[in-house]
Amino acid sequence: MPDSETQALQNWAGNLLYGTSNVFQPETLEEVRELVSRLDSFRVLGSRHSFNEIANCSTNLISLEQLDQVVELDTERRTVTIEGGMRYGPLCQFLHENGYALPNLASLPHISVAGACATATHGSGNSNGNLATPVSGIEMITTGGEVVSFSRDEDPTDFPGTVVGLGALGLISKLTLDLLPTFEVAQTVYRNLPLAQLLENFDDIASQGYSVSFFTRWQEDNISQVWIKRRSTGNDHGELDTTVYGAALATENLRPVGDSAENNCTEQIGIPGPWHERLPHFKMEFTPSHGEELQSEYFVLRQHALSAIEAINGIGSLLDSHLLISEIRTIAADDLWMSPCYQQDSVAIHFTWKRNWPEVRPLLSQIEKALAPFDARPHWGKLFTTSPELVKSFYPKRSSFCDLAERLDPKQKLRNEFLNTFVFD
Ligand SMILES: Cc1cc2nc3c(=O)[nH]c(=O)nc-3n(C[C@H](O)[C@H](O)[C@H](O)COP(=O)(O)OP(=O)(O)OC[C@H]3O[C@@H](n4cnc5c(N)ncnc54)[C@H](O)[C@@H]3O)c2cc1C
Repeated sequence: MPDSETQALQNWAGNLLYGTSNVFQPETLEEVRELVSRLDSFRVLGSRHSFNEIANCSTNLISLEQLDQVVELDTERRTVTIEGGMRYGPLCQFLHENGYALPNLASLPHISVAGACATATHGSGNSNGNLATPVSGIEMITTGGEVVSFSRDEDPTDFPGTVVGLGALGLISKLTLDLLPTFEVAQTVYRNLPLAQLLENFDDIASQGYSVSFFTRWQEDNISQVWIKRRSTGNDHGELDTTVYGAALATENLRPVGDSAENNCTEQIGIPGPWHERLPHFKMEFTPSHGEELQSEYFVLRQHALSAIEAINGIGSLLDSHLLISEIRTIAADDLWMSPCYQQDSVAIHFTWKRNWPEVRPLLSQIEKALAPFDARPHWGKLFTTSPELVKSFYPKRSSFCDLAERLDPKQKLRNEFLNTFVFD
């Protein structure tokens, strides 16, 4: 029997009602194995923060909410192993208390690690790969109920296909992540960077911090906020630069969007703090971002970034009435087959929209048209209207990924409409 049959389940944004209310919440791995062997078709849920149908299913959903603990901290190998339902918030707290850190985080700590890695979720930073890149080991329950493990060192052939797995390979029961020693970050925000300065000095500004984000509404050739997150050495409590290429240092904590009195954002004004309290934009204890919203995001090659930014700025007036905010971030190349940053340093252009899909949908087509010369890859967890043929063409290792999925899930229990449309033939 499913653990919930009556309540209709929504994603975080409330724009998607899942196709079934048969939701199972197994409490042990044995229960998971029995369940996946028995069910003919299912999808695994993370924390339900994706905006599109990637996690959807019309038959059965399995949530690993009850399997959300740290399994082992290996101080010798400097790795942590966690259960498949764990979220970044509690993991980061645990790691920091034990003297460790992850290299990077997304804008929010509320999401599950397995769900984030499955969709190549990312933060920012010229040298920072997406959140899947520190994964060095995966334990998966195949749809036949078998427990299989993949390790970066021991399975170099298949491993790069398993990490950004889109939920298409098996149920991720454990993940092992490489760690860094814990570190401090100081975050400063600069207001009103002229677009011309961004275009002329993008590389310099993007390298002024460990992680840098640019926020804009594409109006008046203005970048409204630049968030610079610098690793802090403990000896750098000196004066902050008062301007960056004409943008002025903010002297109070800001939000990228909205002006509510409640500030849901992490501490700024150059005050150093632990990595996990500065790398995300949003605090764990508050609703992240704006709330009622939709999101889209496109990755372009780093060398196309400026042309892509100019192209979007050129259609800024079209976007104005439905756009809450855009964010531009840099992501280092990786070797993960289904990552949008596979073998290419990338720049991601993100859009947070008012929650009005009928009005937003045609805007995505306009954006995709403007970005067409740059082979813009849509984020796996966000909304897009890019054609399936184009999406498939962006992934040179797609057919290897399909073969791997066929091997691990021969009965195609994990296929849903999204995967059948955008990944499989
Ligand atoms: C407010 C907000 C801010 C965001 N900020 C960012 C950001 O800064 N950067 C960014 O890149 N993205 C961002 N996102 C998008 C988000 O990170 C992705 O959609 C991510 O996939 C969400 O993780 P989840 O745990 O909610 O996964 P879900 O949406 O629940 O699932 C995503 C996929 O993972 C699979 N999956 C989950 N757990 C497992 C498991 N244990 N085994 C097998 N498959 C599994 C699912 O089947 C599905 O295919 C944001 C989203 C929101 C709502």
